[in-house]
Amino acid sequence: LEVNRLPSIRAINDTIDPPFAVGCRVPDVDKPRANAVLVILARNKELPGVLDSMRSMERHFNRWYHYPYLFLNDGDFNSTFREGVQNVTESVIEFGQISPDLWEFPDWADQEEIAEGIALQGDRAIMYGGMASYHHMCRFYSGKFYKHPMLAKYEWYWRVEPDVKYFCDITYDPFVYMQEHGKVYGFTIVIKELIDTIPNLFRYAAGFRRSRNITSKGMWEVFLTDEEKEKAEKKEKENAKKKPYDHEYRLRDPPDIDPESMNGEKYNLCHFWSNFEIAKLDFFRSKEYEDFFQYLDRSGGFWNERWGDAPVHSLAAGIFLAPEQVHYFRDIGYRHTTIQHCPGNAPKKQLPRTPYVRDPHSKRDREEDRYWDSWDVERENGVGCRCKCD
Ligand code: GDP
Ligand code: MN
Repeated sequence: LEVNRLPSIRAINDTIDPPFAVGCRVPDVDKPRANAVLVILARNKELPGVLDSMRSMERHFNRWYHYPYLFLNDGDFNSTFREGVQNVTESVIEFGQISPDLWEFPDWADQEEIAEGIALQGDRAIMYGGMASYHHMCRFYSGKFYKHPMLAKYEWYWRVEPDVKYFCDITYDPFVYMQEHGKVYGFTIVIKELIDTIPNLFRYAAGFRRSRNITSKGMWEVFLTDEEKEKAEKKEKENAKKKPYDHEYRLRDPPDIDPESMNGEKYNLCHFWSNFEIAKLDFFRSKEYEDFFQYLDRSGGFWNERWGDAPVHSLAAGIFLAPEQVHYFRDIGYRHTTIQHCPGNAPKKQLPRTPYVRDPHSKRDREEDRYWDSWDVERENGVGCRCKCD
């Protein structure tokens, strides 16, 4: 699925800025690095997927930039995992355990309500809804990860997951460029959330915004349905004779807000697909974000519904950021599971090879570079560099 072809994404494209870099360049390795880290949350059993992601990360970016990796886990990383990841990078690797206070649901929450809420979502076949661990993960990424002591020394992070693939060489430092351009949050894919996972999230986000009298800096509107589309959706619903959403929700109305008075604002369900995320940690560490997270957490939506960190981060960007602070990495080709983004300049077919050696130490690099260098000229006006998409 090429998500950047979806119309909803195009609307966002128009709002967000142009790429930092066009075409290929010699990696600017002499520039000082940012205070940044590559963060991977994983379990031991995910080692093969982790190694795939790391190999891709190293090959397309980190072999030049050598950013450290931080592995996080609510359990223990075993020696197989530790040794495995150490074998594929020259970078510094750290392993951090996530303490229960950052992972488990809060003490004040009713344990029976949690178990029941999650079981109910399982019964409804809501994606991952029946898995407590997935709820923990979403809540951790929504409001906790940046509080992990091993992240304290960093200013920036790049989120990496098992089984991701980067299609293009990234020959500039995205952290440094974000810093230089006053960016706070960067993404490469936007998709629509499954409504059943977040039936009440938007009401709470909108309620929060209202109750704190926050004025939009221009991002909020990005996440609102436009009338034309709403009409089309309505029609679609009628056609399908689909019942309007009438499940019994467990969540009460957001505090401090009359839900009938939300200006008719409706969430278009678009969200930055946060399994790829390059962002400034200060954004999450701010008093305002904490206030937002607490507001959401109090509602119980992280267990009575399956609020994902992706729409949570996105709506937070909607509430707190200006479009100028958000960067669309359209030049970073990326794939996770079945969804991918491929920059527009990817070659249609393989062109004749010319002999050229870029990295004399690696046979595989040598082979691939010969191929890529043969169509350098064609790429000059496109975004992305050496993209070979699946
Ligand atoms: P999906 O991409 O939405 O299908 O979700 P994943 O299963 O890939 O989970 C998202 C991220 O959280 C991945 O980096 C997983 O390795 C990690 N993750 C999910 N559940 C757990 C868990 O229970 N423990 C740990 N340590 N990591 C988890
Ligand atoms: Mn994943």
